[in-house]
Amino acid sequence: METYRARLEPRLVGRQLSRVRIHDSRLTLPFEPADVEAELEGERVASVERRGKYIVVHFESGLALVVHLRMTGGFPEAPATHERATIDLDDGAGVSYRDVRRFGTWQVLAPVELEEYLGARLGPEPLGPKFTVRFLSESLARRRAALKAVLLDQRIVAGMGNIYADEALWHARLHPLRPALELDESEVASLRRGVRRALRRGIERQGADLGDGAYPQGSMQDEFRVYGRTGEPCRRCHVPIEKTRVGSRGTHYCPVCQR
Ligand SMILES: [Zn+2]
Repeated sequence: METYRARLEPRLVGRQLSRVRIHDSRLTLPFEPADVEAELEGERVASVERRGKYIVVHFESGLALVVHLRMTGGFPEAPATHERATIDLDDGAGVSYRDVRRFGTWQVLAPVELEEYLGARLGPEPLGPKFTVRFLSESLARRRAALKAVLLDQRIVAGMGNIYADEALWHARLHPLRPALELDESEVASLRRGVRRALRRGIERQGADLGDGAYPQGSMQDEFRVYGRTGEPCRRCHVPIEKTRVGSRGTHYCPVCQR
């Protein structure tokens, strides 16, 4: 996600959108692609921001384009198949959006709508000051679901993906299937530290994609503590890592360290 933002920023900031073509009407539901194209054309980009799993393109007019990439959306460097939209810029360059499974969305929002929209869908940034033990404790207190499932809820930890949820729980020594509301204060504090530690490690090695398996280099996998290491020894206690499912998501954990 951060990778896409960093790639788009230098190409978009200061540029005017001269022509926008949306080839897939699902992208802009419930709005007509033609209306969204017309809203975007002529807008000049002020900044490109990432908020959780959303990419927000802010325009000088105050409007914003909110892109939710979901499972397979993205902005490839070169023209690609499954292209759902294209943007021509005033410097002659272009940006294309592709999405194989078509779950991604594009929405044009006014400033007031933007904060309302993201506020209802996103919890605090895990590396920011609002992600406190108190916030986490209150969020978990009402949830009977498995810890792993709750961690993937974007209203609790913005931007948390499957890989880093597994890593965070290993760092925190918490079993992924524990009901979230069972955690005591010190366990919540370990969980908060685990989340931050897992994300920092990921960002350090430019595994900046907090998504679902799209890590840039194969070597990165060696750096994981549990993710993708089924049957391999735990790096703390040497017992083989196990794999289970939580909801539909593959979940890796150490049966000894994570009780
Ligand atoms: Zn272990």
